Parts: sequence; C-alpha cells; structure tokens
Amino acid sequence: MISSAQQDILRSLPQVEEVLRSSRLRALEALLPHQVLADCAREAISEHRENILNKTRCSTIDPDEVIEAARTKALGYLEPSLRRAINATGVIVHTNLGRSPLADEAAEAVMQVARSYSTLEYDTNLRARGSRHDHVEGLLCALTGAEAAIAVNNNAAAVVMVLAEFAKGHEAIVSRGELVEIGGSFRIPDIMAFSDACMVEVGTTNKTHAADYERALGPHTSMLLKVHPSNYRVVGFSESVAINDLREIADRENERRRQEGIDQEVLVYEDQGSGAFINLACFGEYAEPTVAESVRSGCDLVSFSGDKLLGGPQAGIVVGSKHLIDRLKKNPLARAMRLDKMTLAALEATLRLYLNPDTALKNIPTLRMLSEADERVHERAERLADMLRSVLPQGSTRVDVVPEIARTGGGALPLCEIASFATRVSFERGSAQDCEIFLVSKRTTPIIPRIKNDAVLFDARTLSDDELPELGEALCAYFESVGA
Ligand SMILES: *Cc1c(COP(=O)(O)O)cnc(C)c1O
Repeated sequence: MISSAQQDILRSLPQVEEVLRSSRLRALEALLPHQVLADCAREAISEHRENILNKTRCSTIDPDEVIEAARTKALGYLEPSLRRAINATGVIVHTNLGRSPLADEAAEAVMQVARSYSTLEYDTNLRARGSRHDHVEGLLCALTGAEAAIAVNNNAAAVVMVLAEFAKGHEAIVSRGELVEIGGSFRIPDIMAFSDACMVEVGTTNKTHAADYERALGPHTSMLLKVHPSNYRVVGFSESVAINDLREIADRENERRRQEGIDQEVLVYEDQGSGAFINLACFGEYAEPTVAESVRSGCDLVSFSGDKLLGGPQAGIVVGSKHLIDRLKKNPLARAMRLDKMTLAALEATLRLYLNPDTALKNIPTLRMLSEADERVHERAERLADMLRSVLPQGSTRVDVVPEIARTGGGALPLCEIASFATRVSFERGSAQDCEIFLVSKRTTPIIPRIKNDAVLFDARTLSDDELPELGEALCAYFESVGA
C-alpha cells in the first residue's frame, strides 16, 4: 500500500525531460551520447522512487538532488574505472590489487607491441607464419629444465586444459589432502567434473601414502595429480607423497603396461600454483620446490601462474615433456585460452630477467618486495613518518613506526610471515575509519592501508619510494576535508 504521504513525495520527483534540460546535464552533452545521459536520468529518478517506496526517504525531493545524482552517474562514464592503486597493506601478491606489478622492462615491452604491429605469429627467419608460443617457450625451457612449454590465460585455464587433454574420460588419482579450493569457485573436484575426468580420491585429509596411490591404480588411470595446497596447510600429524615417489609408481605402471602392449601412459602432473623460480631467504622454513625442482623430481607436467611468485603478467604456464606439450598446443582449449600480444610481451620480458637471478631480484617488483632487507623497509617507514610529521597539520596526528608482518599473498606460502615495518598514524582529529574511506574512495589513485586499533597503518614493504609523496598529499587532503 502506498500512503498518501508517499504519493505526495512521489509527485515531487522530476521527469526525465526535466533532468535532461537542466544546465548541469546539458553541459555534458558534448561529452556523452544523449542515450547515456537519458539512462542516467532514468536511473537517478528510479533510485529515488525506490527510496520513497521503501521509506528510506520520507521528505519531498528537490529536483536538484536528482539532477546531481544523474550528473554523478554520467561523470562516472568519463572516469577510468581500472586505475593505478597504492598498496600499503603489506600483502605483496594482492589478488584484489592486480597481483604482481610488472617490471619496467615488461611494461616497456608491452608498450612496444601495443602501439604497433608485431612479430606475434610471424617468423622473421622463415619470412612466413610463426607460432605465438615460440616467444616464451625457449626461455621457459632454459629456466626450468623442461623440454617444452606453453602459456595460456591463467593457471586455472592451464589446469582445465591439462585435465581435458589427458584425463577426459579417464581416471585421475588425487590425495584427499589436496582437493583444494583456490578461491573464486575454482575447486579441484569441480574442475575435474567440468573436464569430464573421473576423480579418484585417495588417502585422508591429513595423511596420504604411496600405497594409497598404488592401490587406486587401474586400467583407466591416466594421471597422478598433485595439487599444491597453495593457500592453506595441514599441520601436525600429516604426510603427503613426494613427486619422486609418484614418478616411481607411474614408471612401474607404465613398464607393466608396455609389456602388455597398452600404450595409454600414466602421467605425473603437478598443479604448482604459485610457481617459484627462485627460493627466497624470506620463505625460510616454508620454502617450496621451485618449478625446476618439480621438473627434476619427475613431473611429466607442471603448471603455475605467471603473476604470483613469478612476478609477471596474468598467465598460466605448463612445462613438461615435449610430446605432451605438443598435444596441449593442438587442444582447442589452447586456442580459446591463448595469450594476447601484450601479455606475451610482458611474460617474455619478465622471463628474460630471470636469466640473471640478481637482475630478477632487483628488477621484478614482486621479488624485490619479498627479498628487500628489513633495514631498508624500516628506513622507508621512518622516512614516511618524518615526512608526515612535517607536512600534516600540527596536533592532528601522532605518527610512529611499528614492526609488522607482511604476507606473500596470492594464495602462496600462507604461514610465511615476512618481517616488515609500518608507519602508523593515530588521529587526534578525524578518525582512522574516516581517513581510510577518504584514502580509498575519494582519491583518483586509491591508497589501500591497513586499520589496526584505531590507527591507519602504511606497510612500507609494499610501498615504493616514489609513492611516499602521494601519501603525504593524500593525508593533507584528508585533513583539509575534515576542516580545522
Ligand atoms: C592460484 C592457483 C591456481 C589458479 O591460478 P590462476 O593463475 O589464479 O588462475 C590454481 N591452482 C593452484 C594450486 C593455485 O595456487
């Protein structure tokens, strides 16, 4: 039932035409199509109508309010949505913030191919059609010791492609301790079902033994799948089977099959997820096998992300035996999930940096942040603190530097605590919550801090030196918005 009071308020709503005739919307006519402006007007009116009907709005409406709401919507089309952000969270591979920032060399390579034609699928020696896979395959092989490699859109795509090619209509054996959910609806059992692979679970949540895999082997088995528990750990009374033991099991079974004249082989495939190329000191006791180690331990195939510990662009990389990678290259999914020229350029440039590990550590931002010496991080936090003390209004804040724990993030090394330092700002005027809203929502370049005990923390491990002045400006702007 609409009350008569509500009806009165509804009558105060302007018509679409009236909103469009306003000078504020007419001023946007040169910038936006009429249709878009009309839609903004309609949405603004309908949102106000909703509020009247659900009684969150109980007073008459000034048409100016609706006009302003429509204008804000229209202006939204003119502002970039995907933009640079400043990560002061201390989470290095932050999935919500785009995981790995690219190295300068990678960004430059993207610019080069983005703005002109390129050799994407052109072989300049043969002066004929080439393959886009060639740009990264050689480097991937050189760096991991694998025979062959292919890169696709992301690691989720790589897993789907590998399962679809090698386990479709067959059985893949996986430990119950590794039936992981990576996040965003990517769950191993669901991906198995999606790929028409029959999942055979073995072992228990905490312990799986080699004998469990052996018992589960059957004539339809095509794969022993190992999934890296990227984002969680079973600690305590736990055990899993190492790659080289899976290799032995597969070898024995393949030998038996050869003697019986069966040519369907059993593969060992590891979904390694984070894909480290270098084991960094900061990983400490949590250090994981690198991709090269998994290859050496006997995996037929290893897949991993391009933008986690590798520090490159979003990509999914599969390395392994040539005859298997050749089959993947021919799979229709490889075509559907192929990389574009810009990602390939960034990936190639990032991989090239790994040819010299010192260069990789210095130039790849993710590796630099992970491996930066504690003292340097401390120094940066102190520098930021000094600067804030000098630029922020007298008596508005207390600023100090506190030890903090940074994280790898990106579903990698969840237990690994990386020593860090944060610049802590406590508020005499305004509040930490208010300030966070301002820094995140009101700035063209949002600054994402951490809030702890009514203070705003800027973790210096994920900040770069050239971002510090922007933090000063943003905090000053916050205090201007709060007023004297
Ligand atoms: C992160 C991860 C994935 C998904 O990789 P994306 O590159 O994000 O698609 C798959 N498997 C494991 C084990 C992971 O850690």
